[in-house]
Amino acid sequence: MTSTPYDGLDVMPLAGAWRAGSSPDRFVDTDPYTGEVILEGQRASVSDVDDAYAGAVLAQRDWARTSPGERSAVFLRTAELIDARTEELVDWLTREAGTTRMRAYVEIGIVRATAMAAVTHTALGSRTVASDVPGKENRIYQRPAGVVAVISPWNFPLHLSFRTVAPALAVGNSVVLKPAEDTPVTGGLFIAKLLEEAGLPPGVLSVVIGRGSEIGDALVEHPTPRVISFTGSTAVGQLIPAKAGVKRLALELGGNGPMVVLDDADLDHAVDAAIFSNYWHQGQICMATNRVVVDASVHDELVDRFVARARDLVTGDPRLPETHVGPIISERQLAGVRNKVARSLDAGAELLLGGDPSGPTGRVLPPHVLLGTNDIPAAVEEVFGPVATIIKARDERDALAIANDTTYGLSSAVFTTDLERGIAFALEVEAGMTHVNDTTVHDDVHAAFGGEKQSGLGRFGGEWVLDDLTTEHWVSVQHVRRPLPF
Ligand code: NAD
Repeated sequence: MTSTPYDGLDVMPLAGAWRAGSSPDRFVDTDPYTGEVILEGQRASVSDVDDAYAGAVLAQRDWARTSPGERSAVFLRTAELIDARTEELVDWLTREAGTTRMRAYVEIGIVRATAMAAVTHTALGSRTVASDVPGKENRIYQRPAGVVAVISPWNFPLHLSFRTVAPALAVGNSVVLKPAEDTPVTGGLFIAKLLEEAGLPPGVLSVVIGRGSEIGDALVEHPTPRVISFTGSTAVGQLIPAKAGVKRLALELGGNGPMVVLDDADLDHAVDAAIFSNYWHQGQICMATNRVVVDASVHDELVDRFVARARDLVTGDPRLPETHVGPIISERQLAGVRNKVARSLDAGAELLLGGDPSGPTGRVLPPHVLLGTNDIPAAVEEVFGPVATIIKARDERDALAIANDTTYGLSSAVFTTDLERGIAFALEVEAGMTHVNDTTVHDDVHAAFGGEKQSGLGRFGGEWVLDDLTTEHWVSVQHVRRPLPF
């Protein structure tokens, strides 16, 4: 069945009604590959944020009282709508976020799985715990936290918004969502349209389209939300706690993923995984492999094979099925990536593969390969572009020290043909996630996704996501009158 594409995306759902933002300034949504303006509208103001929160408080009371079955129905229907609207979504993701078609299908698959997983979160329960007081019954009820603020980035916009929005709504919270400036539709408005069509009542989800610098503080400092779920850079994320005050924080921040290749690794497998982890979505992934750390005994062979594979990747228009590497999202991001490469070369790195950006907007940066040490800027900082840094390690011990010598701790990987050795190594890596013989870019709605160190606080996926989105209410019942001290 074909559906009519969603329209009216130049306005936003605010407290139950779709209307223009009340800021005098406009948002302009552009295709990062062609430069074409695909959507324009009026941005949200601080007073729109107030309205969204006021509506969220009102709507949450009734939403929290709906039955698990009613809430499940919304998410089952959302999954059906995602199926029916897959091509429409692929079109938006390629045009707005510059993703290749293959990557768009993967993202949509994860979002569909998240909608299905949300069904499992709809029935919150309670349990009893023993008391030292005779005749006392302790009941601990798991409850929705209340109003949840979600702030998301542009790189996997649909998934990174929906992974909080879906479980937050499933347990009976209301949500105010602020997608990134570059992806207002795939990070926000399309999600609102899907949930609205699936039967979510008005006001339970509001979307505010605007700049972080203009409405970010209002969203975070506002007294209404009980939870701030922020996914984005460490630079912005580390400022959130002081502004949020007494609220729960879920912070999913930047990464600097090491992929360690030990001396007994299957090199073909390791090179394939490293190519994917470095260049998928132009390296604009928090879990991307920022550093390939290679045992000295296999280093030169790995470098040769890696450069040969990277040279063969197809760059260009993300709409074409053969394209591996498309455009960088914005001029600002492209300039930042090129600056990190230039500073790394100044610091002594060797450029094994490079080239100038191309395409209509000049934003398709070809795969770069740097040979360097762990102290060059491309190894110390998160690059967020198609740039691999290969670092030679003396041995396993040195490889572990290099892998851990970073302020970040999100994803990581180790390659070895000895699985027990791989697991032992993985447990020594200071990261939230370590994959043995696989890419660093791996997410699974059923597993605990999150970071250590400056990469964040909290976990998504499985039952772990509920830690941030629910609260406990202790109700005690005194069955027999108890003796009191006076
Ligand atoms: P960013 O920090 O610039 O922006 C993220 C979001 O925060 C956007 O919606 C932005 O508008 C908003 N924002 C900006 N300033 C704000 C402020 N003062 N107050 C409140 N909100 C504000 O990040 P980005 O460039 O959009 O995304 C890339 C970064 O996100 C990378 O560092 C990447 O590693 C990280 N990321 C992390 C994960 C994860 O799960 N750990 C996933 C994807 C991306």
